[in-house]
Amino acid sequence: MEYTNAPGHIYDIQGYAVHDGPGIRTTVYTKGCPLKCLWCHSPESQRHQFELGYLPLKCLGADLCENACIKACPEGAITRDAPSKLMGKDQMVEKIKIDRAKCSGCLKCADACITQSLYTAGWNTTVDEVYTRLMKDVSFFENGGGVTISGGECMAQFDFTLNLCKRLKDSGIHICLDTTGFAPTAQYGEIMPYADLFLYDLKHMDSYHHKKLTGVPNELILDNARFLARNGAALQVRYPMIPKLNDSAENIRATAEFCKELGDAVQLVQLLPYHKAGRTKYERLGWRYRLTNVEPPPESFMEKALEVFKALELPCQIH
Ligand code: SF4
Ligand code: SF4
Repeated sequence: MEYTNAPGHIYDIQGYAVHDGPGIRTTVYTKGCPLKCLWCHSPESQRHQFELGYLPLKCLGADLCENACIKACPEGAITRDAPSKLMGKDQMVEKIKIDRAKCSGCLKCADACITQSLYTAGWNTTVDEVYTRLMKDVSFFENGGGVTISGGECMAQFDFTLNLCKRLKDSGIHICLDTTGFAPTAQYGEIMPYADLFLYDLKHMDSYHHKKLTGVPNELILDNARFLARNGAALQVRYPMIPKLNDSAENIRATAEFCKELGDAVQLVQLLPYHKAGRTKYERLGWRYRLTNVEPPPESFMEKALEVFKALELPCQIH
């Protein structure tokens, strides 16, 4: 099958993924997403540009590395912080702090940092490069696993994702696309023959609330789900349940009814309870986490929500 060695930018490739579709999978995380969900647990995925991350635990202190990052910064955005303990030792060192308002994102400091305490979230790549990496995991894909292309929003880098799918399909690899549904319908039509399963998010059935939570309305997302279902695609619907934001009885019922409307295309509905796992990533990027007062929903609540989906005879599970 003809494909193009299209360029792309990604921020991670993770092997042995067991929550990104059937079997054991390797997941490619593309950068850039048109949505900005309040609960996003991968903030480094949101922008197309590469981010500067800082992990203070790994920092040796500015004395030991002779101010490497401070000297590398052309904007004077990095200065010494108050003394704190070096990891695993009693020794006090002066680590660094970044004035994000001054930072231009040149990433010179990350190049200068030998411990990778300062790091770049994301890198440029190509279809061939990613394919070669993925094929190292091919033995894990037996018994129903494969590759999942996630994000960010993988459809936001359409040429890269489409051509990676073509290349993988040629090798008989099972492909999942993890998508927000927010991309042109024609692109879903074009990529559909190469995707075995769409992991498809439904975040709120009311467009006004959807926009408040994610930054975009939901009409295109719902239309694309209908389009995919009508044209024979397989869908695994994912409903992230965020207390007080999208877990009203009305929204749970509307989501279940919409899944029912999609018919046999829906192979599974997953109710995903809110979790706080991504919170520290915001600190590393110097971003503010906006859901500080939200706690994961109790199991009993999730079970009750699941009953609504079961009542409509939908294949469904929590997680
Ligand atoms: S990325 Fe920001 S902090 Fe780092 S060297 Fe460039 S301007 Fe300075
Ligand atoms: S961030 Fe890196 S370069 Fe800067 S002081 Fe710490 S270890 Fe040294």
